[in-house]
Amino acid sequence: MSTVTRFAPSPTGELHLGSAYSARIAWSRARAMGGTFLLRIEDIDIRRCKREFETEIMVDLTWLGFTWDGAVRRQSDHFADYGRVLDTLDARGLIYPCFCTRADIAASATAPHGPDGPLYPGTCRHLTMQERRDKLAAGIEHCLRLDAAKAAAEAGPYAFTDAGRGRIDGQPLLFGDVVIARKDTPTSYHLSVTHDDHLQNVTLVTRGEDLLPSTHVHVLLQKLLGYETPLYAHHRLLTAPDGKRLAKRDRSLTIRALREAGRTPAEVCSLLPKD
Ligand code: GLU
Repeated sequence: MSTVTRFAPSPTGELHLGSAYSARIAWSRARAMGGTFLLRIEDIDIRRCKREFETEIMVDLTWLGFTWDGAVRRQSDHFADYGRVLDTLDARGLIYPCFCTRADIAASATAPHGPDGPLYPGTCRHLTMQERRDKLAAGIEHCLRLDAAKAAAEAGPYAFTDAGRGRIDGQPLLFGDVVIARKDTPTSYHLSVTHDDHLQNVTLVTRGEDLLPSTHVHVLLQKLLGYETPLYAHHRLLTAPDGKRLAKRDRSLTIRALREAGRTPAEVCSLLPKD
C-alpha cells in the first residue's frame, strides 16, 4: 500500500516555523516513500478561520517547496458528510445531545480531569427521551457527546502504533463523554479529522505530540465506524528561545515574515530540526 500523508492546518493564523516543521515531516515522508502528500484545510471553526490565512498557507508551502498532490479538501465544504457520520452514531445510540452550559459543567465538576480539563459529569446522558425531545423542541442550544462507556464496550480493546513510541493501548475513556459535534459548528475536530483521514486513505498521520491524547479518541471512532487505523508519528513541538511553544502569535517566526526579511526557502528550512 502506498504511503499517504497529510498536512492539516487550521487557517487561524499565518504559517510559522512550528507548523512548517510539521508540514515538512508529512511532505518528506511521502516523498521518501514515493507516496502522496495531501493538504487539508481544517476550518470547521468558521468564526476563527479565515480564507486569507488559507491562501497564505498555500503561498508559504509552495514557497518552501512542500507542494501537495491533488485537490485541497476544505472541511467547511463537507459539513453534510460529517452529519451523515453523526447520524450513524446516533442510530446506534452512541451519541446524545448535551444542553449544559460551561457554567453548568464547571459547577458540577467534581469529576476527574482529562487532557482538556474536567471530564463531563454525564448530566445529559441521564435525560429521558421526553426531556430530550422537549429541550430540542424548545430550541435550547446543544452539542452532541459520545457516550464513551458505551462506545468503549462496542469498540472493545484497541491499540495504535506511534512510529517513535511503539504500540500504545487505547484509552477510550481518556476524554470522557467527549464533544463530537460542537454547539457552534455541526461537527468537531475529532469527528472530521477521523472521517477525512479515512476518506482520503491516509496511511501515516504525522502531527505534533500535543495531539497524541486525541489519537485515543480518533482510534476509538475508527473502531466504531469500521475505518482502518493508520500509522501515527507524533513529533515534538518546536519551542522559541525562551522555551515556550511556538505559536501563531509569534509573528517574527512566521514564514511570511522570514520571507519578507529576505530569507531564502533553503535558509528557512535550515532553521527547522533535521529529523
Ligand atoms: N488542524 C489541526 C491543527 O491545526 C491539526 C490536525 C491534525 O493534524 O490532526 O492543529
